[in-house]
Amino acid sequence: MIDSHCHLDFEVFDLNRRLVLQQCAVAGITDIIIPGVAPVQWQKLAQLVAAETPLRLWMAAGLHPWWIATASMAVPAFARWLQVWLAQRPCVAIGECGLDGGIECPMDTQRDYFCVHLQMACDLGKPLIVHAHKAHNDVLRLLSQYRPPAGGVIHGFAGSLELARQYWRLGFYIGVGGTISYPRARKTRAALAAMPLESLLLETDAPDMPLCGMQGEPNSPLQLLKVADHLAVLQGLSRDRVQQQTDANARQLFGLHA
Ligand SMILES: [Zn+2]
Repeated sequence: MIDSHCHLDFEVFDLNRRLVLQQCAVAGITDIIIPGVAPVQWQKLAQLVAAETPLRLWMAAGLHPWWIATASMAVPAFARWLQVWLAQRPCVAIGECGLDGGIECPMDTQRDYFCVHLQMACDLGKPLIVHAHKAHNDVLRLLSQYRPPAGGVIHGFAGSLELARQYWRLGFYIGVGGTISYPRARKTRAALAAMPLESLLLETDAPDMPLCGMQGEPNSPLQLLKVADHLAVLQGLSRDRVQQQTDANARQLFGLHA
């Protein structure tokens, strides 16, 4: 089973990371994709994925909209840094990057940084890991404009079937996470129930996005099994079937070998 989006490098895991990884391996999680959120953290992330672990860890490099303000790196400098990094390090994707209409950072600024990632994805043919929150129209417009050839994933998806369809047309998968466990997320749950399994990836976004009933606690990649269970119930399928297809999807998108 593959967690396609987990921030395992974050400090909250510093004390128990080894234990969490062992538990994940025992639970049948084979691979975890760890997206970068800011250049200052990429080095630690690269060391983490290079270390000996009981399961496979993969890195992506990007600047998340929430970290733009603290990154204090101008757009041209960031573009150069990302280019150098992607040329020298094994990254399976570009991201986490995107747009967030719910934060203070001006949308123009966010767009400038997002476009650096989009251009790089076009130049290198790598998939994107996209954060899109309260900004779907802008994200869709930019994706249509750049048409990144390897597509990517809209992680932590919340929205309608019609919105998901617009992303599929652009070659993007939909990332299914903890939102699926909240009864009040009726629109998203109904949409996920109707989506083809071939278009979905599983994720936890740990330590963020705790499942329903676990609010206030840091989320863990171990919860991936519950995300899969929720999706299986919604789709009326076995967990094995969900696991098998979403694994194949993640391997295809990120070019992972079994
Ligand atoms: Zn994330």
